[in-house]
Amino acid sequence: MKKVAFILNPISGTGRKKVILDYIKEESSFYPDYQIEFYSTKCVGDASVAARDFVENGYDIIVAIGGDGTVNEVAEGLIGSNAQLGIIPVGSGNGLARHLSIPLNYQRAVDAIFNGRPQFIDAGKINGKVFFCTAGIGFDAVVGEKFNNSGSRGLMTYVEFCTKEYVKYRPEKYMIAMNGSRFETKAFLITFANSSQWGNNAFIAPDANISDGMMDIVVWKEAPRATMPLLTAELFLKTLKYSQFVDTYRCKELLIIREKEGLVQFDGESVMMGNELSLSVLHKAVQVIVPKDWRPLPQIIDMLPQYLKDMVPQQWKEFVPKLKDMVK
Ligand SMILES: [Mg+2]
Repeated sequence: MKKVAFILNPISGTGRKKVILDYIKEESSFYPDYQIEFYSTKCVGDASVAARDFVENGYDIIVAIGGDGTVNEVAEGLIGSNAQLGIIPVGSGNGLARHLSIPLNYQRAVDAIFNGRPQFIDAGKINGKVFFCTAGIGFDAVVGEKFNNSGSRGLMTYVEFCTKEYVKYRPEKYMIAMNGSRFETKAFLITFANSSQWGNNAFIAPDANISDGMMDIVVWKEAPRATMPLLTAELFLKTLKYSQFVDTYRCKELLIIREKEGLVQFDGESVMMGNELSLSVLHKAVQVIVPKDWRPLPQIIDMLPQYLKDMVPQQWKEFVPKLKDMVK
């Protein structure tokens, strides 16, 4: 008998939570070897406490139903245990799920929980606080803060905040020490990438490997304003690393000293921290359940922007899962 706990953040991202919960209940009846439990979070930090409680009570799989913020909290509660993390992505960016090829379609994500395989992933830690997707300082953290405090979510809100804040933002100076050397730089933002993307297929570190025990450090230097549309496009084309305004490093440990205290973004949530930031990698911190097989057709549809998805004929969308079952 396997014990599975589903931790739901009722306010994260978009999506239909009730439909998902009903689907899980219905689907779990086909898996008599699994005993399932649900928990709805009440406040920030609650998901970590709940995850830890479930681990102590012998649960084998703890599933986060939410965005990267909820996944962060649940995963944090699992560090150092043998329990496996499941993800049903219903956030606005879903960076970790996208990196791990966990379907954004909730039915296929639930299917992966029952039929997937475990994969070890690393975590990053800055001044004692962990992240599993990306962390960052500079513009990255400023936008994260505005976005979190806004009432609405979704990609368009994010784009709107980016544009508004960009006009006001001034790059800051940093002293960076890693791999035995130190240098000073003026940066627009610095991202610490455990996963390759921020979310929404914005690939800040296309080559990042989530299990290699190393952190990819992306320094986006001060760049002329006119280059911003091009750099933004390069984020989505996975070519940002070739830009003369972007340097990527890889390290196990890093120290950053900035001019003053400020915000640090952790998996999309920004918090205030001092001027000295010390980063380390927790190699193979958590095991995540990922889908067993690569299913190109459904996953390609998942990756398309909504307006393109709408153009895919309904019959074809229904045909793809049927085809999958026939092949099984
Ligand atoms: Mg790595």
